[in-house]
Amino acid sequence: MTTIGFIGLGNMGGPMARNLVAKGHEVKVFDLVEANVALLIAAGATRAASAGDAARDVDVVVTMLPAGKHVRAVYGDAGGVIESARAGTLFIDSSTIDVDSARAVAEAAEARGFAMVDAPVSGGVAAAEAGTLTFMVGGPDAAFTRAQPILEGMGKAIIHAGGAGTGQAAKICNNMILGITMIATCEAFVLAEKLGLDHQKLFDISSKASGQTWSLTSYCPVPGPVPTSPANRDYKPGFAAAMMLKDLKLAQEAAQAAGANTPLGLDAMKLYEAFAADGQGGVDFSGIINMLRG
Ligand code: NAD
Repeated sequence: MTTIGFIGLGNMGGPMARNLVAKGHEVKVFDLVEANVALLIAAGATRAASAGDAARDVDVVVTMLPAGKHVRAVYGDAGGVIESARAGTLFIDSSTIDVDSARAVAEAAEARGFAMVDAPVSGGVAAAEAGTLTFMVGGPDAAFTRAQPILEGMGKAIIHAGGAGTGQAAKICNNMILGITMIATCEAFVLAEKLGLDHQKLFDISSKASGQTWSLTSYCPVPGPVPTSPANRDYKPGFAAAMMLKDLKLAQEAAQAAGANTPLGLDAMKLYEAFAADGQGGVDFSGIINMLRG
């Protein structure tokens, strides 16, 4: 049993914290939204009065927050996590944030003697609830080893990507592949429709040929071939287009800062920007096929 401070109890953090309680850990929670805290108290967690309070006298702090600015503030502000934690506390940030913020917060933590890992996740709310998330972890070997048993309480695959920030790098590189291949897969179905080629036939052929992608065989953007894909439920997410846009923007920021040439990543970001601007941000990201049909 470990004592854990958990900060950020939203769509993902709520079920993740509940799984830690269910594994027998003593979990102290904080969120700005009282209703989110109340759900965790009902599940057996205890209440903290602030982010700093959640970090006080615990072995591990886990954060699951919207973006880099929230993570910088929760850790770095006066009375925040870094100022309040006792010596030896391990910090795990599972939010999806920019690599620069992840590295800056890890450096600030390390300068005060704390070990930290960035550990963003793949898998949405369903995987958070089922405890089957994939964690991509950046940080020193010793910190990874300490984080592993905690992350195993919330996920099925825990992968060490390298030093600080590489978990976030893995997340945005993976999702850039996903955004680009989803658009490519949608374009192929749109072209097939114009050419009189049946959806199922394209699926049967490309899933066994060189056009095979996860976007095709696990998350097919047209109804029929993959019964579990959001296309079969009118593109109810799943993984919302606004979330894909957030990750593609993070990839472009990182590419610009690092001087990497990612023209298709840029195009994918622009297409998801147009989709979101059309009021479709809450639709599953595979629903972009409707925009591509024109
Ligand atoms: P969410 O908006 O539902 O939850 C964020 C929570 O953080 C909210 O409850 C909010 O009140 C809380 N919060 C914000 N600032 C705070 C502060 N200063 N102190 C305490 N609490 C604060 O978001 P989510 O869907 O749970 O996503 C969290 C992170 O996980 C994001 O970075 C997201 O990109 C990533 N992610 C989400 C999914 C998904 O499918 N939802 C999948 C993978 C990764």
